[in-house]
Amino acid sequence: MTARVLVVDDVPVNVKLLEAKLLVEYYEVVTAHDGVSALQVAHDQRPDIILLDVMMPGMDGYEVCRRVKADATTAHIPVVMVTALNEVSDRVRGLEAGADDFLTKPVNDVALFARIRSLVRLKRASDEWRAREATAVELGVTGATDNAVNEKAPGSILLATDGMWDKEAVTKTLIAQGHKIDHADNDASAISMASQGDYDIVIVADGDRSSDALRLCSQFRSLPETRHGPILLLVSEGTEDRLAKALELGINDYLVRPVEQDELIARSWTQIRRKRYEERLRENFAVSVNAAVTDPLTGLYNRRYLESHFERISDRLKEEGKTISLLMLDIDHFKKVNDTYGHDSGDQVLQAVAKRIVSNLRGFDTAVRFGGEEFVILLPDAPLSAAVSTAERLCKSMSSAPIPMSNGGEAISITASLGAATTMAGDESLEELVRRADAALYHAKRTGRNKVISSVAEPSAVSQPKSAVG
Ligand code: GH3
Ligand code: MG
Ligand code: MG
Repeated sequence: MTARVLVVDDVPVNVKLLEAKLLVEYYEVVTAHDGVSALQVAHDQRPDIILLDVMMPGMDGYEVCRRVKADATTAHIPVVMVTALNEVSDRVRGLEAGADDFLTKPVNDVALFARIRSLVRLKRASDEWRAREATAVELGVTGATDNAVNEKAPGSILLATDGMWDKEAVTKTLIAQGHKIDHADNDASAISMASQGDYDIVIVADGDRSSDALRLCSQFRSLPETRHGPILLLVSEGTEDRLAKALELGINDYLVRPVEQDELIARSWTQIRRKRYEERLRENFAVSVNAAVTDPLTGLYNRRYLESHFERISDRLKEEGKTISLLMLDIDHFKKVNDTYGHDSGDQVLQAVAKRIVSNLRGFDTAVRFGGEEFVILLPDAPLSAAVSTAERLCKSMSSAPIPMSNGGEAISITASLGAATTMAGDESLEELVRRADAALYHAKRTGRNKVISSVAEPSAVSQPKSAVG
């Protein structure tokens, strides 16, 4: 994994030292020698990570960090404070300024690269979601979304306590912050609780436990339910290699024992906020994707969805040597409905038609609003005979009962005409299939409406639903 690293230090030899180490590992390095130019470079060059000296004349590292995190264009860039200071109070000050981690001078290589890889990987994951969201905004399927999350609301935390000799102290500190704490005293219950509960963080203790804490972390990372959840690892002092391995496995953050209260508080809040932010991005994306592929009036899928869905299922059915059928349904004389009852009533008719279609389909059939009062129904693995009987069922259900109006107005009777076409999956494109179904539909319209015509059928094979009423 390569990445662009911004190294900031007022002492040129320190910059050179770090730069040399990073270049050996093929990182791209950009540098700055004071706070003001660091902000400029961060803004212009968009590094993947910033290694930031704390003590600098003029603007110090804390202030630089605060400004990086306050600017929306750089806020997502992880910041590692590189410091000669190693007091808890300095670390807490850094965390409060928004720093993601610390390294003490002289910088240990294992620690350095473990942090960089871990933070850059975490950033890439959230970059991906931000990019998707940007695409959705660009496509006009969603407005610029509000990503503000409630920063202050307490979180819910799972402590995997096997081997956590500091359980009491950790629990007390977190409860005092208002967080809700659950305990899991073995790995099996930790996994099942984390999979079912919606925790903001899972804290895992690497200590005197009955199984390997890193194995537990790796299990969390591989299960779909817990893959995205932040993991905070408690490690003992002097286990730098183990910590590097844990970061490699994808833990989000860690604390070195003895656990300092303020640091625990600061790091857990950081993880809670991050989780909420990323969750929001994922939700926004789901909402915008949904908006992109559904028709707002009827809730059915739209044409855009049909196109990609057809590709997917026809590839699969082709392998299995199966057929695929498509129905085209068009409401008869719909213009007259609008003219007689008004556009709003017309809309209600469209909604009712969509409901009737869906309630007459199998779970894996797909109903699409294709155009104004035209609907397409895709029937995977259905031969023509099955497609025709589905079409007849739909045709009958349209005229089965008048559609009641919400304003208490007169219920509206309708009929619809349908065309059906079937192909061996892979033989015909969506366009061809739609064209044939449409031609059959046209034929149904010309020969009296309220009926089903199938594409291969001769006029003699016209099927009239039994309930047809002229
Ligand atoms: P045919 O039996 O030949 O299909 O006749 P028709 O009147 O149904 O067909 P035509 O294509 O002439 O008219 C379709 C009408 O559907 C015209 C259009 O105003 C109306 N329409 C299209 N979309 C909507 C919509 O979203 N809401 C409402 N209320 N009407 C719509
Ligand atoms: Mg019509
Ligand atoms: Mg029409």
